[in-house]
Amino acid sequence: MSLQRRMHSLPLSDVKITDSFWGRWQRVLIDVTLPTQFDQLVATGRIANFNRAAGKEEGTFEGLWFNDSDAYKYAEACAYALTIRDDPKVRECLNAVIEAVTGAQQSDGYINTFFQLLHPTLKWRNLNMMHEMYCGGHLIEAGVAVFECLGDRRLLDVSIRFADLVMSVFGPGKRRGYCGHEEIELALIRLSGATGNSKYLEFARWMVEERGHSPSPFEAELQDPESVALWPRTGSLLTKQGRYDGQYAQDHLPIREHTEIVGHAVRAMYLYIAAAELGDDKDDTALEQALLRIWNNLTGRRMYVTAGIGPSSSNEGFTADFDLPNLSAYAETCASCGLVFWGHKMLEMTGDGDFVDVIERALFNGALSGISLSGDHYFYTNPLESRGTHERTPWFTCACCPPNIARLIGSVSNYAYGVSSDAFYVHIPIACEAQATFNGVPVQLKIESDYPWSGKYKLTISPKKPVQFKLLLRIPAWSSEMEIDLPTAEEPADYEGGYAVFDRTWTEGDTLTIDLCMEPNWVEADPRVKDNLGRAALCNGPLVYALERTDFGCAPQLFSADVEAPVIVQKEKLLEGVNTLMVEGLSIKEIAFDELYSPVGSTEMIESKAKFIPYYAWCNRGPTDMQVWVRQM
Ligand SMILES: [Zn+2]
Repeated sequence: MSLQRRMHSLPLSDVKITDSFWGRWQRVLIDVTLPTQFDQLVATGRIANFNRAAGKEEGTFEGLWFNDSDAYKYAEACAYALTIRDDPKVRECLNAVIEAVTGAQQSDGYINTFFQLLHPTLKWRNLNMMHEMYCGGHLIEAGVAVFECLGDRRLLDVSIRFADLVMSVFGPGKRRGYCGHEEIELALIRLSGATGNSKYLEFARWMVEERGHSPSPFEAELQDPESVALWPRTGSLLTKQGRYDGQYAQDHLPIREHTEIVGHAVRAMYLYIAAAELGDDKDDTALEQALLRIWNNLTGRRMYVTAGIGPSSSNEGFTADFDLPNLSAYAETCASCGLVFWGHKMLEMTGDGDFVDVIERALFNGALSGISLSGDHYFYTNPLESRGTHERTPWFTCACCPPNIARLIGSVSNYAYGVSSDAFYVHIPIACEAQATFNGVPVQLKIESDYPWSGKYKLTISPKKPVQFKLLLRIPAWSSEMEIDLPTAEEPADYEGGYAVFDRTWTEGDTLTIDLCMEPNWVEADPRVKDNLGRAALCNGPLVYALERTDFGCAPQLFSADVEAPVIVQKEKLLEGVNTLMVEGLSIKEIAFDELYSPVGSTEMIESKAKFIPYYAWCNRGPTDMQVWVRQM
């Protein structure tokens, strides 16, 4: 069984990224990110936990209770990386993870080293916070990825045994239960695709639809002293004024009644990814409408300009409309990765190119800022302003973000191109060589571009013999004008769902040149975003820009931009090669007054120029003051 979708990604093995931008990130992924992450998995006991659960090693559980998931996400990233380049070191690391994991699984299919080593009698007792199914979901995603990319079934077999165990305990006519941290739902849908067995898809549907109906299964857990003892803070997150609330885990209402994005941001993303797949599978209009409502609330009122999401550290998630503080922005790296994944499912469900505007914003800004240019330091939170204390680190106690950004970089081509039975989509013109088949005819497609530094690109289509299919080229929202030149075209392109469309018979060597007319532009926020009143943010194409003390010489908070003056684009070697943007304005002279408070007019302003860098690249030259939303003159 495979899901019937309007559009899907090309298999990773059918695309070779030749892009200077993403090609560099993928080289760093293989040469630096994955080897150093493996060292961290070993050093922090994450691999040892599996070996201890397997009885191969002495010792007890180390670290946080959901640490198994980091090894799984890491394995998934390795599978993607090995389709890019068969690297012996990455292969060896992946094999070590697979061997550790397969050894730890119990004969009944159970695997979670925290419970196996510390609380073997309390399995499935605290679903709201103990993440057994969440970890299992990442196991399944890894199992599917390793199988589909490399043909290696070992983790897939572990995944199937785990999924079957979960389904023997929970489900219609059995125990009613689902995980506090969504993830297994989307993973089971992937498992359905990989195995051809629809029972996993239907079980995922049951879990998604059961969620949010009262009474919640978590309410009983909050009354169970042994369950609460596993993680005593549980109650404070799931209750409000002593009553069960559930918003934290999107367990407040059945999914079809959701109108706003609430709770923990990563949980929300993972739930809605599964829901979009389920809606797409059944052409379920009511579910699709609910998802569009939530999406519009998120992207219209609760998303940073960088596509960071979830402003608050207290719930790692959402608060209220237009509450988007810059300095204290939580904006977890995983949440922006999740937004890319959810946006992609919405795109596949609807065929609407508007979703790519958000995918691209998250990909090039809020997610990518989560990793250093060197590939071995990470942000967990991604604020839009810094007073010099925010810094990437090599790892975290809770290390969800590093392997998440790794699997995103490894699979970036999933979000750039799409195919259906009769169409090829260019969502984001990342340079590549790809192959697809239309009407039985193999077709080579080649994109040459310098994205995101230029909006100009060239697309060459080479079918084995003339063949008809649709070519859809996305028109980004930031593009003021799109110019397309196809010398052999008899008619101009049609426009449909945010794409320019050519429906014709293609012949060997047909070449299109496209110009998305990328130019720097200033944006303002809705005035209800109080933190941004009187401020503007500078963008160029998909990139949001930031000003750092490192380039400006003093705190960027002292700068006021002249948003009417021309912005000069300059190609530079710094930060692994970026376009910087030179802006004119005024700066407050950073001098000390004699008094804390002085008469109005005491502040001296001088003419000033400020060099902005892409937001994703900030804090790569040491911790420094930074600002995205600068004051307007
Ligand atoms: Zn994270």
